[in-house]
Amino acid sequence: MGKADTPTGGFSTRAIHFGYNPADHQGALVPPIYTSATFAFPDVGYGGRCFTGEENGYFYTRIANPTLALLEGRLASLEQGVGAVVFGSGMGAITATLWSMLEPGDEVLADMTLYGCTFAFLNHGLARFGVSVRHVDMTDPAHVAAALSDKTRVVYLESPANPNMRLVDIAAVSALAHARGAKVVVDNTYCTPYLQQPLLLGADVSVHSMTKYLGGHGDLTAGAAIFADAELAQRVRLYGLKDMTGAVMSAQDAHLVMRGLKTLALRMDRHCQSAQTVANFIAAHPATAVVHYPGLPSFPQHALARQQMRQMGGMIAFELQGGLEAGVCFMDALQLVTRAVSLGDAETLAQHPASMTHSVYTPEERAAHGISEGLVRMSVGLEDVADLLDDIGQALDLAHAKALKSAPKAQAVAGRSCSEPA
Ligand SMILES: *Cc1c(COP(=O)(O)O)cnc(C)c1O
Repeated sequence: MGKADTPTGGFSTRAIHFGYNPADHQGALVPPIYTSATFAFPDVGYGGRCFTGEENGYFYTRIANPTLALLEGRLASLEQGVGAVVFGSGMGAITATLWSMLEPGDEVLADMTLYGCTFAFLNHGLARFGVSVRHVDMTDPAHVAAALSDKTRVVYLESPANPNMRLVDIAAVSALAHARGAKVVVDNTYCTPYLQQPLLLGADVSVHSMTKYLGGHGDLTAGAAIFADAELAQRVRLYGLKDMTGAVMSAQDAHLVMRGLKTLALRMDRHCQSAQTVANFIAAHPATAVVHYPGLPSFPQHALARQQMRQMGGMIAFELQGGLEAGVCFMDALQLVTRAVSLGDAETLAQHPASMTHSVYTPEERAAHGISEGLVRMSVGLEDVADLLDDIGQALDLAHAKALKSAPKAQAVAGRSCSEPA
């Protein structure tokens, strides 16, 4: 182990150097990409020991690969876990983890608001295999205390939640869950390890869609699970990944995620700074009904955000006066901001959860789970913030004119107006 392998140093130092020493690789500054699907055994005995787990060697990439292992080591270091497993997508990480933790008869206690496909996996997937799923509003830990039962095996949450930005007090909920023998899984995609450290707050597993900020450039899909417990990490690898999902990540994508990690702290600083500016701007515009951004003093959980997040994040959700129609008008008027799902890219992206990422919820479920029909979600990117404000400003002006369409003065914005809905 060379000097660069040691787990010391600050966040960015570890994101750049952890687990790799060029001297061990012919001086190559950038770690080689091992594309090999399979690995040669020196003899039959060694191969057999690899299969039983007595030997920690590489034998098949679906279980382990040197390039994936380097990324796993870095992620575990960045989020203070004892181990990590990477996957071909965020949903691969979530499903493999939950398949490994649950049995028929167990119960999952989940927050009200979840990423749409996670909601679908729990309610339309696991529920078919004898796992019961209950949702409670975890913004108040007292609801969790009241809802935990002896059957609760997993408490599952996102903080901030996708898409409505509600926070959960991870330390409080973890303490309550552990007192009842349940484990806590936190989807930390919105924050990344740089802004929030769920395992240090008491969670057992942190899952990520690395498609988002960790990759950071919108050019790959990947996921990760980071563990406080080595035994669970091994079970998720040898059962959830190997047998239940096969959701293996490609070595080329692992290389791209490691490239993304090198600038993660820099990018997050800028995402957060610009998102605060954009949130302030939207909040002050007369078109706006409400902005959900943890960095606004008006945000109901602003104090909790300051307590458990290093900075306030790059994601914003908001509702306009005039609801759905005004939101659609705003979205269609955007010129620089891109209409697209996903998040965490250099490009600023806006989407409409009710018709896109959260369309798997029924309208009644959306209402019950706090996802209003007019909500717009924005991932604030890395463009010059002045250009973002120009574009968002003109689109808000149009949406405002639409909402006030009885007031002819407000309609004539730059000679344009939103078309009437069909
Ligand atoms: C995107 C996302 C996922 C799913 O990740 P994929 O990489 O698309 O499979 C899970 N959770 C959250 C919060 C997400 O934003």
